Amino acid sequence: MSTAGLKGINAFGHLGWITRKCRICALKIDITRDLHYVCTHCKDKYDAYFCPADAKRLHYRCPFCGRELVPVNAALYQPR
Ligand SMILES: [Zn+2]
Ligand SMILES: [Zn+2]
Repeated sequence: MSTAGLKGINAFGHLGWITRKCRICALKIDITRDLHYVCTHCKDKYDAYFCPADAKRLHYRCPFCGRELVPVNAALYQPR
């Protein structure tokens, strides 16, 4: 009863992995594990995440701003 004011704070408790959807084909991308491409300028504004196949189709250019897409290798997130 005493913690009523903190309701909902646990919404961000789970940080196991983070998934995004490919902006083109809606393929689910685990950005902490799967190789994918991202526009660093648009990822926050437009969720500009792309699967490798669509990145290739886009000639590795962001469809929103025309900048080059950056490959993100999951290994960078999980050094072993
Ligand atoms: Zn895709
Ligand atoms: Zn962009």
